[in-house]
Amino acid sequence: MNKHQKLIIITAPSGAGKTSIVKRLMQTNLPLGFSISACTRTRREGEVDGKDYYFISAESFKQKIQKNEFAEYEEVYEGSFYGTLNSEIERIWNNDEAVLFDIDVQGALHLKETFKEKALTIFIKPPSIEVLIERLTNRNTESEESLKKRIGKASIELQYEAKFDQVVENIELDKAFLETQTLIINFLFNATT
Ligand code: 5GP
Repeated sequence: MNKHQKLIIITAPSGAGKTSIVKRLMQTNLPLGFSISACTRTRREGEVDGKDYYFISAESFKQKIQKNEFAEYEEVYEGSFYGTLNSEIERIWNNDEAVLFDIDVQGALHLKETFKEKALTIFIKPPSIEVLIERLTNRNTESEESLKKRIGKASIELQYEAKFDQVVENIELDKAFLETQTLIINFLFNATT
């Protein structure tokens, strides 16, 4: 098996800090390729199509479901679909890199079920639900309705911690990043598979 035919799946409730950790990991010289998901939500300011996400229409998303192009997909929030394309995993493996994911809890569990020991799942845990709500609110990227949806979903997702291979508590970003990086190095280079 190719040493890097592996998957590193970072998951967390929205607002726990997983995207910041993933962005930092992409700045290291670890052999990681970021899995760009397809999604149907509107692009936020500063986001780039084909870099942060492939922003596609609901129609196009449905066609890809029918053509079995997704390794997993979810309606993460009502009316907003997100999914991992099989072609992304292939693209990154062909580059001799491990695939790095920033996806929701259900998507992470789904990929683990498919790829088993090839996948390492890391759950980023916020210090408390209060801190999570504060971070989500201060981010200022969401409408009030979207914020409510995210807080509701995050409270449920917090209960999933035990289902993942590793848990990293994000009290301080620098520490959480270093801890995550060490777990990945161990998995990529010290594991027996
Ligand atoms: P956001 O709208 O904040 O970019 O993302 C919302 C949630 O969807 C986040 O938890 C994000 O990690 C998750 N997400 C992003 N891409 C995917 C994907 O391909 N599949 C799944 N299941 N969730 C995703």
